[in-house]
Amino acid sequence: MALSSIAQAKELRGLGLVASHSHITGLGLESETSLTPRPSSQGMVGQLKARKAAAVILQMIKEGRIAGRAVLVAGPPSTGKTAIAMGIAQSLGEDVPFTMVAGSEIFSLEMSKTEALTQAFRKSIGVRIKEESEIIEGEVVEIQIDRSVTGGNKQGKLTVKTTDMETVYDLGTKMIDALSKEKVLAGDVITIDKASGTISKLGRSYARARDYDAMGADTKFVQCPEGEIQKRKETVHTVSLHEIDVINSRTQGFLALFSGDTGEIRSEVRDQINSKVGEWREEGKAEICPGVLFIDEVHMLDIECFSYINRALEDDLAPIVIMATNRGISRTRGTNYKSPHGLPADLLDRVIIISTSPYSPEEITDILSIRASEEEVELSPDALAILSKIGCETSLRYAANLIAVSHLIAARRKSSTVDVDDVKRAYDLFLDKERSVNYLSQFSDRYIG
Ligand code: ATP
Repeated sequence: MALSSIAQAKELRGLGLVASHSHITGLGLESETSLTPRPSSQGMVGQLKARKAAAVILQMIKEGRIAGRAVLVAGPPSTGKTAIAMGIAQSLGEDVPFTMVAGSEIFSLEMSKTEALTQAFRKSIGVRIKEESEIIEGEVVEIQIDRSVTGGNKQGKLTVKTTDMETVYDLGTKMIDALSKEKVLAGDVITIDKASGTISKLGRSYARARDYDAMGADTKFVQCPEGEIQKRKETVHTVSLHEIDVINSRTQGFLALFSGDTGEIRSEVRDQINSKVGEWREEGKAEICPGVLFIDEVHMLDIECFSYINRALEDDLAPIVIMATNRGISRTRGTNYKSPHGLPADLLDRVIIISTSPYSPEEITDILSIRASEEEVELSPDALAILSKIGCETSLRYAANLIAVSHLIAARRKSSTVDVDDVKRAYDLFLDKERSVNYLSQFSDRYIG
């Protein structure tokens, strides 16, 4: 799954930071094809009805039957709406794009809101491009490695003799990796994928294979089929429509993909890309793989954004849009109308709604305990009990945030286990929303407001 936030979560872990949904590795279903969630699995706890509905959506995505639809996950704060979206993302195939944006992110200073939405939509549509690459097969006659260049095994030269030609490949690091991984020696029969430079060992040359057989070795070696010196292999790469746009946008260039600073892309560029991709599809060179666009805090969008989404969902090239909101009846931004979840009636009409409900105290305990082990924090049973109580009375997210703080406080007193007092001190130090509101109203005259 081409999911930047999951990749980022892995990166953050490397830094010792643990993202708040890192414990979720899927929807926690009985099996990959099942629609039934387990009470607690893959980091997911409870919320069974919503998870079952999400499993149905997942199945439809996998079967490619969902493009152009929209799902709204609605429920009170901290009831796992984002967690469920992450669960879907984690269960998608490696190359199915998943993009996550928060409603407020759309209002960036650098580009118009419709441009920001267009980019988000196009990031969520994958194009699987098929490529035929040439494979050379032959016997290694000589290996030269030049280790001097950067002080390590960074460069190398491989001479390969095929049946009717001699080719010298200078494949750099990749080759050295392959040489050491596959233990390639002179006399081995190997294949080289010209496009990627991947080297695979097939076995020993015929003469050597015979020697080995004569020695009664267990291993049977594959013989290089005579005459067949070239093979064709089909490789598939998936890129998003947005990546193709950026690479082809003369003002941006592909380096912008690394900086993320892609700016606005002209609509002519997108039109050209759409027709090019259309041609590739007709020629059987590419297929479209609709991914998922997750818009959190969707109530932050305004009426123009909602009309954009309505229209974009009709497009041939549309991903599945999953939106989340914790708002009940509220005003649609940019209008004076109130509507359920702040969504305009015409959009509301086309979404299917998954609702999440508040957790039971046991479920809160289970989630907090999973979070603690994810953050490698040991909680005493009493500390877990008090954290759960705090979770029930304030919010799950606030209680989860106290885990790391209590851990730090425990570490100060040189204890590796968090105890009740550590949690209490953390609770005193950091206010939850309600106490903060009380505090503000108590001292309202001293704030600028
Ligand atoms: P908000 O409306 O405030 O955005 P939300 O409904 O999206 O909230 P999440 O952010 O998904 O809530 O949940 C808060 C925290 O609790 C996250 O760390 C999330 O991973 C975890 N969490 C929520 N529900 C579950 C669950 N069912 N199983 C495991 N972890 C969960």
